[in-house]
Amino acid sequence: MNIADLHVLVIEDDDFQRKIMVRMLASLGVASIVEASNGKQALDEIHRATPRPNIALCDLDMPEMDGMEFLRHLGEEKLTIPVILTSALDSKLLSSISRMTRLYGIHLLGTIEKPVNPVNLKSLLSKHGPAPVRQQSAADSTFSLEDILAAVDADQFEPYFQPKVDLRTGSLVGAEALARWKHPHHGVTGPAAFIPLLESSGNIDKLTFQILDKAAMACRRCHDHGHVMPVSVNLSLVSLDDTSLADHVMQIVRRSGLDPRYLILEITESAAMTDVAPALENLARLCMHGFPLSIDDYGTGSSNLQQLARIAFSELKIDQSFVQDFSENSSLRVIVESSIDMARKLNVKSVGEGVETRQDWDMLRRLGCDIAQGYFIARPMDLDTFTAFVKGYQPGLMVAKS
Ligand code: C2E
Ligand code: CA
Ligand code: CA
Repeated sequence: MNIADLHVLVIEDDDFQRKIMVRMLASLGVASIVEASNGKQALDEIHRATPRPNIALCDLDMPEMDGMEFLRHLGEEKLTIPVILTSALDSKLLSSISRMTRLYGIHLLGTIEKPVNPVNLKSLLSKHGPAPVRQQSAADSTFSLEDILAAVDADQFEPYFQPKVDLRTGSLVGAEALARWKHPHHGVTGPAAFIPLLESSGNIDKLTFQILDKAAMACRRCHDHGHVMPVSVNLSLVSLDDTSLADHVMQIVRRSGLDPRYLILEITESAAMTDVAPALENLARLCMHGFPLSIDDYGTGSSNLQQLARIAFSELKIDQSFVQDFSENSSLRVIVESSIDMARKLNVKSVGEGVETRQDWDMLRRLGCDIAQGYFIARPMDLDTFTAFVKGYQPGLMVAKS
């Protein structure tokens, strides 16, 4: 979409900053601008303004209704307005808020640390396109914690597997296990409907261990059929607080008979940056026992080399918000390129996530990224489908695709 077609809603309580943003937007040539000084006013404006805003710039810390509450309402009311977050808050916090935003099913174009400048603003505005197909989001979920815990007990959760492919050779080099709820009435339901509640209520470990167990078993089965590759499992930041985590993970994987080196544990960048001693203890112990660690959603936080160097990780997954359409956006390309460079210098694998198009694939390949994961290759699939996928997989086809 053209910048000239944007109807922008600016939500900012500081009059001065709001005026500056309005002026920048006007000089970038947007079609119209409406202003609000808190979330409540912003919702009113969305319902009232014609044409309805098709993009929102949203501050987080505001009186009456803050940015987070506004985002929740946006999700609950299914108002599909893409959002850019602006904030002076700590980048760790910003990254967890971006995550929350995405889990609410909101299309987050990106975050800008204040003070906002025209270059950042323009590059994020130009990411604006048709909203992605809405996945099951937390806002769609009507599930209570009780429903979810009962389902955990009834063993209704399963990993779906999404392949990872070597960008140079096209060979299959692994798969990420992503939790799905096989709901008896609602069908296959994505993580947004249950992970936030499990995490916030301190119950995520039960699910983690089930997924870990099933993923390890599936991986073993793959090996038995001659397809030797690792599987990746996601660990929540909250799980890392409990120092018994590493032992539990060990026990489960040992029971499956899988060598830990085939079980990659993905932790988000914000978890990798944590200073909390128990988390570092867990990560060190897991690494000591041979589990490769992967840094997930890289680029959404702002970790520096020193912080990353504290953790012996072996893979860096570049967040999909940078990879998607980065072939058309030079600022995103710079981020992706420097992430790949950094991975190379640290001697770890780089993985581009959210590869949706041939252009993304080609560009990653050109930049020397090691591995790709995304809809362009395949969507996450259940074990039977994945097993068939692995059997019929032809590396040449992927490379020929480029
Ligand atoms: P994630 O770890 O970043 O996983 C990648 C997400 O991107 C998955 O969403 C995947 O389906 C989606 N994806 C993959 N390729 C593409 C693409 O080309 N385009 C787009 N638009 N999306 C793509 P999913 O399965 O909905 O999972 C969402 C998040 O939920 C995951 O993000 C992860 O943080 C969390 N999650 C999933 N399973 C588990 C789990 O077992 N435990 C924990 N703690 N978290 C999990
Ligand atoms: Ca992941
Ligand atoms: Ca990720």
